[in-house]
Amino acid sequence: VSLERALAAVVGDRHALVDPGLRAPYERDWTGRFGAPARIVVRPGSAAEVAEIVRICAQEGAAIVPQGGNTGLVGGGVPRGGEVVVSLGRLDAIGSVDAALGQVTVGAGATLAALQAACRAAGLDAGLDFGARDTATVGGAVACDAGGVKALRHGTARAHVAGVEAVLADGSVVSRLAGLVKDNAGYDLPALLAGSEGTLGIITAVRWRAVPAAPARVAALVPLASAEAAAELLAALRAHAPSLESCEFFLDDGLELVLRHQRRPAPVRRAPMYVLAECAATADPTAELAAALDACGIEDAVVADDTAGREGLWRLREGHTEAIGAAGIPHKLDVGVPLARLGRFLAEVPRVVERAVPGARTILFGHLGDGNVHVNVLGPEPDDERVDDAVLELVCDCGGTISAEHGVGVAKARWLERARDAADVAAMRAVKRALDPAGILNPGVLLPNPAPAAGAGADL
Ligand SMILES: Cc1cc2nc3c(=O)[nH]c(=O)nc-3n(C[C@H](O)[C@H](O)[C@H](O)COP(=O)(O)OP(=O)(O)OC[C@H]3O[C@@H](n4cnc5c(N)ncnc54)[C@H](O)[C@@H]3O)c2cc1C
Repeated sequence: VSLERALAAVVGDRHALVDPGLRAPYERDWTGRFGAPARIVVRPGSAAEVAEIVRICAQEGAAIVPQGGNTGLVGGGVPRGGEVVVSLGRLDAIGSVDAALGQVTVGAGATLAALQAACRAAGLDAGLDFGARDTATVGGAVACDAGGVKALRHGTARAHVAGVEAVLADGSVVSRLAGLVKDNAGYDLPALLAGSEGTLGIITAVRWRAVPAAPARVAALVPLASAEAAAELLAALRAHAPSLESCEFFLDDGLELVLRHQRRPAPVRRAPMYVLAECAATADPTAELAAALDACGIEDAVVADDTAGREGLWRLREGHTEAIGAAGIPHKLDVGVPLARLGRFLAEVPRVVERAVPGARTILFGHLGDGNVHVNVLGPEPDDERVDDAVLELVCDCGGTISAEHGVGVAKARWLERARDAADVAAMRAVKRALDPAGILNPGVLLPNPAPAAGAGADL
């Protein structure tokens, strides 16, 4: 029996995609930069089916790429060539929300937007949000430890994990979905899986910890002269506005690109830099926001307290990814730098990029409150790594991190050893070896792959 036939027997022919046309959407990443043909794409409908798939692949030494919504930006969720793609989209059930605990059990394939809607209906907030919400899955968000626009207040995805159910590399199923607030009996496997990018297990369900809803909202778009002025505003927001939920930034060339893409005029005075801050509380937080703006002597902020107005401002920030994608295939580097060095970093990035690949175009934006910068470079060929190396070198020089929220993926795996010290990487390798000794789960992602997993070629 071929591997393909054995897998089709588990999920049914409809959900075992071998035809190149049917496989195609699962084989190329959102940016268009990464991807290769898969051996087969399978779409299991239950954790038991996932376990059976993994058992068959383990027996065969066939490499697996877990995939959620395929919105990841570091190439970790698409094949590198010949792997079995396990797409979790059908595991999208959402249980009833336990309002007393503020928790809900959600299938790994449910979209972030669906989780948000379920939490909202129960008077809660999922506490995690980002632009790809309608397609990105909860499993993918946990696997990447996604951050987004509310991490400043509510933490990254891992802060919301009260438990997981996951299939390990031998096909065994670990289930910790009881949602016990206190449960320290042994190692915290759910925490280990958060941020593991599909290399330690396939997450099939998540026990999600929501946060209280904060329906009274006000946003401000503030034009600023420099990163130093932005840091000063962030400090004032922290001091005067405990309701601060998001603090984002973008630069004027990014705004220009977005305005052209969205065919709209600028709603704000043009300046070198912009901060978009949002406060959220149960009672109107406008006075807190105003106090922070006053403390910085800011008089020309655009303030919106109605939904349409706020969404209009947010489209400027969230529209960056799409506008950049429409302009070409970008190199995307999601990095973190200490706030004190942000000004230096923002000034130097375009220079090091230009030196690495003359004529390349740099667009910078990100989550100011987390010191998280998205460096987007248009121009270099997808497989030309020179700009990536130049930017990551600068990040390390600034004492920052090579991955803040998108993950390491394949895009930055070869940088892990530069970014973490030897003992740290050795411990990570030991964990990987213990949980996936044959290296079948997402080989080449996160850890640079010393010995690629055995090919997926043989018959069962
Ligand atoms: C427009 C846009 C805006 C974005 N904004 C943000 C942002 O603000 N913050 C942020 O953090 N990210 C952002 N992202 C990146 C991306 O949306 C997130 O990384 C998201 O969490 C990926 O989820 P996914 O379901 O699409 O995962 P995929 O892309 O399918 O997979 C991502 C990684 O997770 C693994 N994986 C997926 N599902 C599972 C599972 N069930 N079990 C084990 N491993 C799994 C894959 O193997 C891969 O390594 C953005 C992306 C886009 C396109």
